[in-house]
Formats: sequence, C-alpha cells, structure tokens
Amino acid sequence: MRLADGTTHSAYAVIVAVGGEPVKLQVPGEQEYAGRGVSYCAVCDGAFFKDMDLAVIGGGDSAFQEGLFLTRFAKKLYVVHRRKEFRAQAILQDRLLGMDKVETVTPAVVKRIGGNGEVKWIEVERDGRVEQVPVEGVFIFVGFKPVGRYLFKREHIDHDPNGYLITDQYMVTSIPGVYAVGDTRAQLAKQITTAVGDATTAVLHAERYIEELKHAERAFPSAPREEMPRLAGRMEPVRVVAGQTIVRQGDASDSFFIVVRGRVGVYQTQDGKEEQLNTLGPGEFFGEIGLLSDMPRIATVRALEPSELLRLDQESFRRLVSVSAATRDQLDQVARERLAATRS
Ligand SMILES: Cc1cc2nc3c(=O)[nH]c(=O)nc-3n(C[C@H](O)[C@H](O)[C@H](O)COP(=O)(O)OP(=O)(O)OC[C@H]3O[C@@H](n4cnc5c(N)ncnc54)[C@H](O)[C@@H]3O)c2cc1C
Repeated sequence: MRLADGTTHSAYAVIVAVGGEPVKLQVPGEQEYAGRGVSYCAVCDGAFFKDMDLAVIGGGDSAFQEGLFLTRFAKKLYVVHRRKEFRAQAILQDRLLGMDKVETVTPAVVKRIGGNGEVKWIEVERDGRVEQVPVEGVFIFVGFKPVGRYLFKREHIDHDPNGYLITDQYMVTSIPGVYAVGDTRAQLAKQITTAVGDATTAVLHAERYIEELKHAERAFPSAPREEMPRLAGRMEPVRVVAGQTIVRQGDASDSFFIVVRGRVGVYQTQDGKEEQLNTLGPGEFFGEIGLLSDMPRIATVRALEPSELLRLDQESFRRLVSVSAATRDQLDQVARERLAATRS
C-alpha cells in the first residue's frame, strides 16, 4: 500500500473505510445552509422537517426513494429535476408522483438556496424564467461518489456500475484480505449503524483470515508470498471434538488439513487390525499423500482431543503445488517419509 507521501506499508489485511461524498449542486447557499435546511440524507434528517414544505433535487432512484421517505413528514414536497423525464424506476415514480402533496418542478435548474439563517426558498430557472419556490428543507440527491474504488486500479477490484465496492457477507472484496465497509460498499443504507456493523464484521473476519494466513505461511514455507492471500482465502476452519474422525482410510482424497490447535492421531488398519502410526499437533498437516498421488486415503485421522484444523480443498492444493516446485518437493519429502514409516 503506497501513501500519498510515497511511503509504503505492507499488511496482512486492509479494511477500506474511506466513505464517499454526496455530489453537490455547487450553487450559492448550498454550503452556507448545510445542516440548516440543506441535507443529503432523508433518513438522517427528515424527521426534523415535520409539516414543512420541502424540495427533493434529483430524478434518479435515490431522489425518489428518499422523496418517498420525506412524504411521511412533508406538508408539500417539490421534486425538482433539470430534465422533464425522470430516471427513477417507474414504480417509484408512480408511487411518489401519485401523491397529492407532491408537485414536480421540471425542467428546472436550481440556481441558489436562500433564507434568513435557515432555508426559506430555492431559486430555480425554468423555461428561461427565474422563480422562487418557498421551502424550508432541500434534500439533494444528484449522485454519490464512493471513493474506495479509486484507491484501486479498475481491473483490480470488483465494483458496481456506480463505483461501490462489492463484498460478500463478511465484507471481503474480490481481493482476498481486502475488506470494504460503510458508505464505499454497495449496500442499501448509508448510515452510521451500517458502517459500524460492517466494520465489526470485517475486523472479526480479518482476524481469522490473518491467523489462517500465518498458518499457511508456516505450513508452506517455500510457497511464493503472493500465493498466500489466495490460499488463506480458500482455507476453511474446521472444529472437531475428541474421538471425531476427520478422514477415513479408503475414502476419496479431496482435501488437505493443517492442525491449528489440539492433537490428532493417524491410524491404519491392516488385516482387520488398527495401528496408530503417528500423532500430529499444531503446525503439522495431513492429507497430502492421497492428493499428491491421486489415490484414496491410506489412513484414518481422528481427533485425540478437541481440535481446530484448517481445511484446504483439492483444487487449491493442486494449484499451490503446480505454482511452487519447492512446495511440491517439501510435501513429496514428507509423503515419502510417512509412506516409508507405514511400510516398515
Ligand atoms: C451531512 C451528513 C449527515 C449525516 N447524518 C447522519 C445521521 O444523522 N445518522 C446516520 O446514521 N448517518 C448519517 N450520515 C451518514 C453517515 O455519516 C455515513 O453513513 C457514515 O459516516 C459512513 O461511514 P464511513 O466510515 O463509511 O465513511 P466516512 O464517515 O465518510 O469516513 C471516511 C473517512 O475516510 C477518509 N478518507 C477518504 N479517502 C481517504 C484516503 N484516500 N486516504 C485516507 N483517508 C481517506 C475521509 O476523510 C473520512 O474521514 C450523514 C452523512 C452526511 C454527509
């Protein structure tokens, strides 16, 4: 990560919480009356305008959705838009424009916002004539610029057509280890509560992800560093109780395991007699023999005590050994030693 002053920092995970900016009309009075009648959030401020005449500026979905919310409080609501046609979905248009208290002011360009310490009117230009519309609240919805996406090159992070970063339910973006929270993330509400909730989820997930990353680094010391985020992103934590079978001899080999906490026993049955071959603890792994040789499990692994493991699917394991010859050699060596111990 490179900062504006040129310094670079590296981190196991990054949470992007850079928010965004409502697009401004940039007319006289807008800044002066911000918070005193000019607002960019109906849900945040609507209730302060009970029984007042209000204006919504904009013609898209946001303007209509927020406008619908404002009709709970407004005595009269003007919908001011620079074009005659609105871009909002037809269903939203029907609902809002069908109300008696709603009046359209189109095609009209807002020129100025004025009052006497608090908003009292907006000045609009319509059909070449300038007119004043008396309102006590102006809600501006002419766009929102989420800034998170501009921190990344376009092709490097998934975002929606409006530039909001797309995440899964854990706030993970299309780049493993990069999280997006709050206003810069594609979601229904831009509120403090959602931003804080997103951040809580992201932090908890990032903690777990970093732990997985460190385990992956320890298990595959010769693998390329750039493979690690992808690998950690594919690792699935598995908790087992004492005595629980994790893999069974003879079953298809479909995954690889790293022991994070606890201990597991490795058992092989020959001629109907089960023998314990090994005990594995934190940092050790199993499941490589079947995956490397494309054969069924040669042993059963059972938890000796409550244990935590990381499971890596077959596809990710195969990718890892295909991109890193050193890792393949390391795993081959372990597999050879284990097989030799089995036969002796
Ligand atoms: C006028 C106004 C009133 C509001 N009122 C309410 C309300 O009453 N209730 C409510 O729930 N919500 C309200 N909201 C919405 C609420 O403020 C946001 O939903 C919430 O703050 C989003 O949090 P965030 O962390 O995603 O972004 P922000 O709070 O916007 O924080 C982003 C931070 O990142 C910084 N930043 C941006 N780019 C960079 C960069 N490149 N490098 C480093 N730092 C960067 C910014 O300077 C900023 O400090 C209001 C919003 C506005 C604009």
